Amino acid sequence: MLIAGNWKMFKGPAETAAFCAAFEAPAGVEAVLCPPYVSLSAAVAAGATVFAQNVHWAADGAYTGEISAPMLQELGVHGAIAGHSERRRYFCETDDTVARRAAAALEAGLRVIACVGELEEERERGETEAVLARQVAVLEPHPALVIAYEPVWAIGTGRTATPELAQEAHAFVKSLLDAPVLYGGSVKPENAAELLAQPDVDGALVGGASLDPDSFAAICLAAAAIRS
Ligand code: PEP
Repeated sequence: MLIAGNWKMFKGPAETAAFCAAFEAPAGVEAVLCPPYVSLSAAVAAGATVFAQNVHWAADGAYTGEISAPMLQELGVHGAIAGHSERRRYFCETDDTVARRAAAALEAGLRVIACVGELEEERERGETEAVLARQVAVLEPHPALVIAYEPVWAIGTGRTATPELAQEAHAFVKSLLDAPVLYGGSVKPENAAELLAQPDVDGALVGGASLDPDSFAAICLAAAAIRS
């Protein structure tokens, strides 16, 4: 099981080093840290499995503010997130740019967590499967590709999908693409076990609760208990 912590725009290098000193991943779980770009080296130096929060499709070029897969690999980074809903919402990421970022990173040899998920109004209109199908359709199967199902209404809101709802969406995503599927959206130590116990939930992408080493470790322990 894979438990990834998306730190968003939190923790510079010093806080990253302090987190890594305090955090130990339990056996049986792959814990991945996704710090901001400036803190990637500190996490790599601490021996963590480290993914960036985004990656550009070109190896280099006139793309101010972007970072390429070879640059991440030079730092010792293992993978990257692509298509997080905050990127889609605030930075105009589209299915096309997400697909290009994911494909280039996989081609370069990075692992990728590609995020999909519906908005609240899309769920209310009964469009969840159509949205997921559209977002997944642009992704090519690859052994190093993992999908994160993150209903947008559950991210950072404290509202979590019910285990049944998560299971239903995960099974649908897996019917479209053969890849492990992580659940993301307000995962906490208190709800991790019931979400991770669902048969098609292969791990979690955790935002807020990954910032504290004890709470992230508790989620990792819940995952370890389920598959052991
Ligand atoms: C995320 O950032 O991918 C996420 C799921 O955030 P949170 O756990 O805070 O909802």
